[in-house]
Amino acid sequence: MTRRDLMKYIAAFFKTLFIVAFAASTMPAKGSDAFNLEEIAPGVFVHQGRIAEMSRANQGDIANIGFVVGEEAVAMVDSGGSVPVGEAALAALRQVTDKPVRYLINTHMHPDHVFGNQVFKEAGATVVGHRRLPAALGARADFYKTSIGNQIGPELAGAVDITLPDETVADEMRIDLGGRELVIKAWQTAHTDNDVTVFDPATKTLFAGDLVFMEHLPVIDGSITGWLDQTAELEAIPAERVVPGHGPVSAPWPEAIEPQTTYLETLAADLRAAIADGVPLADAVETAGQSESGKWQLFDFYNGRNATAAFAELEWE
Ligand SMILES: [Zn+2]
Repeated sequence: MTRRDLMKYIAAFFKTLFIVAFAASTMPAKGSDAFNLEEIAPGVFVHQGRIAEMSRANQGDIANIGFVVGEEAVAMVDSGGSVPVGEAALAALRQVTDKPVRYLINTHMHPDHVFGNQVFKEAGATVVGHRRLPAALGARADFYKTSIGNQIGPELAGAVDITLPDETVADEMRIDLGGRELVIKAWQTAHTDNDVTVFDPATKTLFAGDLVFMEHLPVIDGSITGWLDQTAELEAIPAERVVPGHGPVSAPWPEAIEPQTTYLETLAADLRAAIADGVPLADAVETAGQSESGKWQLFDFYNGRNATAAFAELEWE
């Protein structure tokens, strides 16, 4: 490291500290801490959401969201679980750069990733998502606003103007931030039917959205077999680090996905055995995947739902 690099590094470090201090003063959240933001690779910033269900206290700030800064423009990846979270993210971004936010990429339809969309749309961003995102989010808009209103409160949910993508990705799309290109890839049904990943070749950083869960139990709202079938292709992405949708801001790739694969394989094997033995769904969901319970947060909240969804899918094999 040259002296110049060292000075740049030190400057970046203090800038990050400043962002955290600044955001702490602007984040309006009740009972929440500073709006954390970390530069995990040059020009790649990630905010870590809490590993929790959405609540009034956390204002829906439960997903990892971040952004990549190019020479001319910025791309945001996901917008947070409420308007205040999106606003806090944009305020933190503005402490890093004054370049325009040219894109907002939605990794999938879930409210904790898209309820801050309008903040970035109003800031001029083109919203990009999977070709199935408009239908998926559009169909669930009323349901999400009601159900999430029960979690974060009707005022916060009511402020959300469900914002659908302006451009969609059927297979792969490259976006240019000026001297820096990002690769958006649309996947077959896995976590949901509208998952995309965002790869930054410059730093070999993969934003996986909820195709990769760490610490937080994976949630199946798409297809357990589709998710497992595409894991090898995910692992083959030449990334050095991944930003999971839930968990730490960054982890080594592809090792980071291994615990999730073990969980999904275990759940599928347990359910296939139960189905083969004629065990009814109500009994199978009580036991399937239980050997994984100590390894994950929110296990009791999501495992039964995962087992129920996966049972219905595997029953038809
Ligand atoms: Zn999700």
